[in-house]
Amino acid sequence: MIKESDLLTDSFGRKHNYLRISLTERCNLRCSYCMPLEGVELTPSENLMNAVEVFELAQLFVAEGVDKIRLTGGEPTVRKDFPEILTKLSQLPIEISLTTNAVAIDHFIPLLKKTRVQNINVSLDTLDANRFQKITFRNYFDRVYKNIFLLIESGFQVKINAVLMKGVNDDELIDFIEFTKKQPVSFRFIEFMPFDGNQWKREKTVSYEDIINRLGQVYKKEQLIRLKDRPNDTTKNFKIKGYKGTFGIISTVTNPFCDQCNRLRLTANGHLKNCLFSNKEQDLLTALRNKEDLTHRIKIAVSGKKAIRAGMASPERFEDEKQHKGNRSMITIGG
Ligand code: SAM
Ligand code: SF4
Repeated sequence: MIKESDLLTDSFGRKHNYLRISLTERCNLRCSYCMPLEGVELTPSENLMNAVEVFELAQLFVAEGVDKIRLTGGEPTVRKDFPEILTKLSQLPIEISLTTNAVAIDHFIPLLKKTRVQNINVSLDTLDANRFQKITFRNYFDRVYKNIFLLIESGFQVKINAVLMKGVNDDELIDFIEFTKKQPVSFRFIEFMPFDGNQWKREKTVSYEDIINRLGQVYKKEQLIRLKDRPNDTTKNFKIKGYKGTFGIISTVTNPFCDQCNRLRLTANGHLKNCLFSNKEQDLLTALRNKEDLTHRIKIAVSGKKAIRAGMASPERFEDEKQHKGNRSMITIGG
């Protein structure tokens, strides 16, 4: 049930009932599209939200109508107090979900069950162990692959996120779709997006259209089923007839879906971002520590939200690398 909240309604009438909280800027992988090769300057730990502050900020948003919180990062499971944070958040009347690289998720299955986490998004950009190492700079393919099956067997709803990049992993598109033949997962193909330090080039992005064309060469028209998308869904969903799982395309670059956006983001250092691509942030953590009224800052963030991609509506503007310079790296935003 979405509470009618003026505070979380923007000037285009979009109600924000979905908060993504980044728990850390750290990660046990180094995916080249997310973490700059030279690394990122980490925020000193005293300037990051502690477990109590995560809960207090979450509580405030829930009181204003947020009913869905996703924990992300960096890699949320590397935080030592991840169990404590999740346990506290599970007291709130919300749906909690998680985005993880699944490297260590096997250690948290009982906790995830206890805290009613149902939906888990796992990043996996290749089905090949050598390639995994090339993309992530770590040799953890076997762990991740095994853990995906563990999550499925444990009854979680699993979505697998793959960032498709030309010449890197786009040759695996059909293998990913064939994975859904026997596995009840949703494989989602995310268009490679530009963020600080990730050497984005439009030519590297595999677009919605590229994917659809490729599908047409492999599957017959009657095999490919377009599924009905849920409200606020960022994904255009499909299925191959008779397959257990589904797949989808997240086309932020070539076909943005901002008119339905219901998301806000809280970074690990407690800054509120109204859009992935916005470099304008409101520092809620400092305000919380100073016991200031937070609603004023939240109002500025929400009412300042632009109609499309932080004002980069046209492809020309969005594809101009200079426009992305003032934003953070994805690893410090929280995807
Ligand atoms: N570590 C966790 C993981 O990898 O799932 C959570 C954080 S990660 C930043 C969240 C999501 O952002 C992942 O699915 C990842 O693929 C996606 N992502 C990161 N950088 C991206 C980029 N440049 N373009 C598109 N998606 C990106
Ligand atoms: Fe880490 Fe996730 Fe970014 Fe990969 S995508 S570097 S796993 S935060």
